[in-house]
Amino acid sequence: MSTRAYIAIGSNLAEPMKQVIAAWDEIANLPKSKLIQKSSLYVSKPLGYKDQPDFVNAVVLLETELTPHELLSELQSLEDLHERVRSFPNAPRTLDLDIILFGNLEINDSHLIVPHPRMHERAFVIFPLQEISANISIPHIGDIAKIAKGFDPESAKRITL
Ligand code: AMP
Repeated sequence: MSTRAYIAIGSNLAEPMKQVIAAWDEIANLPKSKLIQKSSLYVSKPLGYKDQPDFVNAVVLLETELTPHELLSELQSLEDLHERVRSFPNAPRTLDLDIILFGNLEINDSHLIVPHPRMHERAFVIFPLQEISANISIPHIGDIAKIAKGFDPESAKRITL
């Protein structure tokens, strides 16, 4: 049985746009999975530690037969492929891949929290998610359109290529 999973992609090092575009292809090639939709690219200012380059972000929709933890493990392998170095929280990164939704599942264990607990606080997740799924509702949080209205439109800007 396949599940619709949404993945947030972010990068702010080593030509971030290229990193995200490469990640699209890599995600599309994951086992037992099919890439259904991808958002535009968005640019956003760093949160937390400010003295670092802007981020490029996107969200993709994947239909997968992987379990949530198998998907997490595959995404972590892709982060490693992009030579991601884990230094400190909110540090610059070549590639960050987060599972933001996995069907209707709610998971909270030491490896994985889904829905992603901070997704609704981040314009760079909400705007691209809204672009590909305008009517989606986030469990316990609410409709995407209402959440999106709470953000300054400038906080994550769509890149026109
Ligand atoms: P980060 O530094 O943001 O890439 O966080 C990586 C850590 O977050 C890993 O140890 C994951 O096990 C954990 N994690 C918890 N929930 C999620 C999620 N929904 N998507 C990705 N990583 C997650």
